[in-house]
Amino acid sequence: MKTGKKNLLPIIFLVIFETVAVTLWLTKNNLFYLLNFSYIGISISLGIFLFTRKNKHARRVTQLLVGTYMLIYLGLISGENMQIEGFWYYLFTGVFEAATIHYAVAKIFGPLIFGRGWCGFACWTAMILDFLPYKTPNKPRKKIGWIRYITFAVSLIFVTALFLAKAGNIERIMFWAFIIGNVLYYAFGIVLAFLFKDNRAFCKYICPITVFLKPMSYFSLIRIKCDTKKCVSCGKCSKVCPMDVDVTDNSRKRKNGTECILCMECVKHCPKDAL
Ligand code: SF4
Ligand code: SF4
Ligand code: SF4
Repeated sequence: MKTGKKNLLPIIFLVIFETVAVTLWLTKNNLFYLLNFSYIGISISLGIFLFTRKNKHARRVTQLLVGTYMLIYLGLISGENMQIEGFWYYLFTGVFEAATIHYAVAKIFGPLIFGRGWCGFACWTAMILDFLPYKTPNKPRKKIGWIRYITFAVSLIFVTALFLAKAGNIERIMFWAFIIGNVLYYAFGIVLAFLFKDNRAFCKYICPITVFLKPMSYFSLIRIKCDTKKCVSCGKCSKVCPMDVDVTDNSRKRKNGTECILCMECVKHCPKDAL
């Protein structure tokens, strides 16, 4: 990639995030949005900048910067439930705040543009799971992805029940639900990773957010595509893929296509620059 093009990509992302930051700051008259989206934009642009310089830690840098910010600052310090329960809660109360904006941008409408980039570059659950030893799955995929619909339904029922029961101080309950929910996610995620020898087992079978992410990312503008003229069918790309995507098939219906987290491992390992 030429130097000009290398610099252009992080700049484009920075401009997109700054546009969102300034628009929300001015329309909602709240400085938080300017700082929040500027920070996220800088973190993502830095990751892209490092990636274009072939830095092997590029994705992890962004993932740790954004993931820790959301988990520690927005979740624990600011007391905003950024889990799916928080999304239901703020949606039901009609409050357009951090959790609802976050879901709209990163997990519901954003995936129409950048697919599951959230899962590869920002998620605080995967940020920890990616430290585990099974970066590529050592065992065949299980047919238990239906569990995600149960966890999705449980989160919705839990919040609905709180409203129906007219529970007092739901804000406080949401804060504790965020802490307990995260502890459970990490515990299940780590146990499953070792059980299935796959760091991303939790993402594949349990995570309720994939109920939004998978159908929306099907239409994603940004996708990994294979230049079939350059490809020599060596199979390296599929071998390094953590999500079992049939990388060389360019169709949207390719096997596990909606699992792609844009981690770029396939791109990095392709000997022919075909991806
Ligand atoms: S699937 Fe869920 S846990 Fe995994 S990275 Fe995506 S949002 Fe995070
Ligand atoms: S790694 Fe590259 S050359 Fe090998 S199969 Fe994948 S796209 Fe083709
Ligand atoms: S290795 Fe390639 S196909 Fe697999 S998840 Fe990462 S970017 Fe997507």
